[in-house]
Amino acid sequence: MNVEWQRPRAHAWGGDPERAALLAIAEDIRSRAGFKVCAVEVLRADRMLEFVAIAGADDEGRDLLGQASPVDAMHAALSLGADYGAFTFVAGEWMTDEASELMARYGHVPELPPANEPDAWLATDMLAARIVDAQERLRGIVYLDEPLSGRRPTPEQISELGSMLALQLRAILTHFDREQLEGQLRVARSASAAIRSMSSERDLGGFLKKARHHLKEGFRASDLQIRLFDGGHELNLSRRSEQDVDPRHHRLLDEAAQRAWSAQTALIVEPGHVWGDEILAREGGEDLDLYLARLGAAAVVLVPIGAADEALGYVWVVRHDVRWTEAESIAALSAGHDLGRAVVNARAFAREEQLVGELQRLDQYRTQLIATITHEMKNPIGALAGHLELIDMQLEDGLQVPEAIVRSLSTMSRSVDRLSALASSLLELTRLGQSDTPLVRRPVDLGDLVAEVAALFEAQARAAGVELTFDADSGSVVTGDAAELEMLVTNLVSNAVKYTEPGGSADVTVRRDGDRAVLTCADSGIGITPADQDLVFGEFHRSGDPRARQRPGSGLGLSIAKRIVERHRGTISVTSEHGNGSVFTVRLPLAGPEDHPGPT
Ligand code: ADP
Repeated sequence: MNVEWQRPRAHAWGGDPERAALLAIAEDIRSRAGFKVCAVEVLRADRMLEFVAIAGADDEGRDLLGQASPVDAMHAALSLGADYGAFTFVAGEWMTDEASELMARYGHVPELPPANEPDAWLATDMLAARIVDAQERLRGIVYLDEPLSGRRPTPEQISELGSMLALQLRAILTHFDREQLEGQLRVARSASAAIRSMSSERDLGGFLKKARHHLKEGFRASDLQIRLFDGGHELNLSRRSEQDVDPRHHRLLDEAAQRAWSAQTALIVEPGHVWGDEILAREGGEDLDLYLARLGAAAVVLVPIGAADEALGYVWVVRHDVRWTEAESIAALSAGHDLGRAVVNARAFAREEQLVGELQRLDQYRTQLIATITHEMKNPIGALAGHLELIDMQLEDGLQVPEAIVRSLSTMSRSVDRLSALASSLLELTRLGQSDTPLVRRPVDLGDLVAEVAALFEAQARAAGVELTFDADSGSVVTGDAAELEMLVTNLVSNAVKYTEPGGSADVTVRRDGDRAVLTCADSGIGITPADQDLVFGEFHRSGDPRARQRPGSGLGLSIAKRIVERHRGTISVTSEHGNGSVFTVRLPLAGPEDHPGPT
């Protein structure tokens, strides 16, 4: 099928000053070379060669200015010629039918008077120099046409032309480079300013507002909007104005942006034409034309925003006077990538914050629930304990009941004690977990405290067949709440006795080490597996070891201990060999002179 070739967008390259500079060079070249016409074509990113300067041509020749043709067509003609230095000469008679047809379609064949000399220049002759960059990539072509002498130059003359014009050809390349860089730099600078603003702006809306401001400047836009597809975010940030796109067209433009992202291209809408997307041209072309007319805008450009394979939205650039160049399209696409990355980051950040918030709410809820249940447990436990005590007193007073009932009553009594201990632990845990629970700050001698606790546990240890010893450096004074610190030591000693078999030992020591007091509670008990060692300070954690599970417990003692230690700016750790005992170590700051109580 012969597909009708569609004319590409004309005048896509550069602005007026760049074209004027190239025209001056072309004028210089034709006069130095002794030719009537010198034309310059630039190779655009869309693989089209665009005429950007034509010096000395007739009207018809000048009509080519700004027009673009496929680079392959020119390759087809030039490949038939002979290379002499920088220039290639193609004699009219060497042209194949196909090449002649392409030349006639995309170029200009001047009308020349017929000539009889064998070396006369023919209208179909071609003399061209390829402009290539340091990487040998084709960047453009310079043509010379109609020699003033009317004769074809000899190979030597052509070689000389190349040397003579080397400077001018270089100057053309420099202009090509500069145009590409300037547009890109301007946009890149504004895009990076936008991305930088991301670090100071944590929420997406705020970021987009700043990005819009920077990009509007970078794109020299009269209006700029950013639209993201995310259902939850409608981010047309300009106040509602006549620049807004009719919401009926959002779907059309959203789809076009998806296609533009896949094709990595920016779509340009100009009066009478939509460049880069035929579907949009067909389905929305007329409305977009009306939109442009209403605004009196020269162009609207849709720059897709995305990350990896996913299109995330687009930037809508409305421009009034300056023509949109292809260098800007390239820069705009890279801005679309930068924005995409920033959007992905911002969304990840927002999700993270939301998750943290949810976890915090969950934690609050859990604490609240524990507090409420514990509170509700206290009254019935109190009533049970009271009634059991009453029955106990009556039994002591001689009330006769069967032996089985006495046993049941004693079991009930032990159960109530355990429930009551559990409720107290839960209440304590909740109290310590509340950030507003104040910490009493008084000097506490850890040696005295350990002696008291050891005395309290003496009978219990003896009953369990565990030898309990303690030893303390004198003057191991820390600052804090004596009741809390007592609970800390109690929990450690009670565990040491509880988890040690008869015949074993539990030793508590307090040492001073620099500015710290070091309390250790070592036992020769059942020990803790390495996996459990990481978990024992967590709430409600009880080890999986069956020997540990045989003993009553709630899994709260060590988490209470940890909270107390942290409130006192200390650390707690455990080392243990499963089956061979454990050592719990608590380090607390020793009281300094500033901690001594003032007059109260
Ligand atoms: P519990 O009320 O279950 O004793 P803790 O928070 O005090 O709760 O301890 C958590 C778990 O750590 C215990 O269930 C036990 O498995 C283990 N553990 C604590 N102290 C010791 C110890 N001295 N020796 C062996 N295991 C211990």
